[in-house]
Amino acid sequence: EESSTAAKTEPEATAKTKEDDEPDDKAAQSLLNKLIRSNLVNTTNQVEVLQRDPNSPLYSVKSFEELRLKPQLLQGVYALGFNRPSKIQETALPMMLAEPPQNLIAQSQSGTGKTAAFVLAMLSHVDPNGKFPQCLCVSPTYELALQTGKVIEQMGKHYPEVQLVYAIRGNKLQRGMKLQEQIVIGTPGTMLDWCLKFKFIDPKKIKVFVLDEADVMIATQGHQDQSIRIQRALPKNCQMLLFSATFEESVWNFAKRIVPDPNIIKLKREEETLDTIKQYYVQCNSKEEKFQALCNIYGAITIAQAMIFCHTRRTAGWLAGELSREGHQVALLSGEMQVEQRAAVIDRFREGKEKVLVTTNVCARGIDVEQVSVVINFDLPVDKDGSPDNETYLHRIGRTGRFGKRGLAINMVDSKFSMNVLHRIQEHFNKKIEKLDTDDLDEIE
Ligand code: ADP
Repeated sequence: EESSTAAKTEPEATAKTKEDDEPDDKAAQSLLNKLIRSNLVNTTNQVEVLQRDPNSPLYSVKSFEELRLKPQLLQGVYALGFNRPSKIQETALPMMLAEPPQNLIAQSQSGTGKTAAFVLAMLSHVDPNGKFPQCLCVSPTYELALQTGKVIEQMGKHYPEVQLVYAIRGNKLQRGMKLQEQIVIGTPGTMLDWCLKFKFIDPKKIKVFVLDEADVMIATQGHQDQSIRIQRALPKNCQMLLFSATFEESVWNFAKRIVPDPNIIKLKREEETLDTIKQYYVQCNSKEEKFQALCNIYGAITIAQAMIFCHTRRTAGWLAGELSREGHQVALLSGEMQVEQRAAVIDRFREGKEKVLVTTNVCARGIDVEQVSVVINFDLPVDKDGSPDNETYLHRIGRTGRFGKRGLAINMVDSKFSMNVLHRIQEHFNKKIEKLDTDDLDEIE
């Protein structure tokens, strides 16, 4: 039997009920991104590198062969369908695989290949004959740990001597036992208990310590301290690696405490632009009129696939119902759904099974459904105080310059208040939003 103190230190990771105007919690957003992401994010930006020792040569690789990986691992890389390293991997991999190992802090948006990179580093550094933990990887939640675990299993498919175990709440071990698996992945609370309290892991034998999703990690109370306590128990020569999608001051301060003498790699996110988007607004007096205008638009132009954004769950539900009654195939995405359900809805929409996706704010960020040519703001995005949320507006309708196709955005205005919001958005981006007369729709095609 085993004590259950871990339960107190591990916060629930399951989806909570959220208000629509509350920012979706970071861990859920990150998980959603992972569930729907099937390939690399395109980037044209260059990586910025800050080396600990500016005089040491900087290697970057254009192929996986150059890394001299174990054949079993190269096989794993190819089995995953990777042909060449991603932008961030080109620089991060040689640093992580160097001898002696170097510490690294790396930041790039989700989908740029960070996970695959550190998984490869862990698998490369493991001694398969040592039957004890050698690599620790901490993730912010149980679900995120499982996703990373899957990548380790896939990449290590041809390297069965290397075993993996999950240090997560609910995974109870016999008191006094010692782990034999070389890689341990889990959440900070359980990982800390397994190292210091139950001693299932001897921290002094750890060669690689990975802290993933640092920005999500620090959003949870207690995770910073637990991570730092794990880090302090590790030997001086242990390789420390930290990854984050964003890099605010708070993340940076935390990163410096986890990773001594780091090399630093940053890859700027691709800028979004409104340049390739035709923006319109429609003036109405009520939600019913907005719906009528929407029907007129659908009657007048061919819309392959559209995303429609509403401010509240209730409006989204109502609109989805009305559109279905009109004979549209509608998918609905909203905050009370579990992350897995949301991912399934987005997948179906991607496959074209539904032509309209009605959603609240939750899916505005980080999700690109490429074939969507029309975005409709049934409600304009505003923040808690009712001020225009320019950033969300840009995320919803903006495209990344080089990869974006032309698009069409239609904003529905139904009051003086929303007209004012529209004007301020127009001013902010300094791009005209044209008025559209939905009784005479020749102009938009
Ligand atoms: P991040 O950790 O930055 O979010 P991931 O490592 O999860 O990024 O990679 C994002 C997606 O791209 C995953 O589906 C992954 O399998 C894939 N991927 C990663 N590296 C490569 C590569 N070198 N070539 C092709 N696909 C890759």
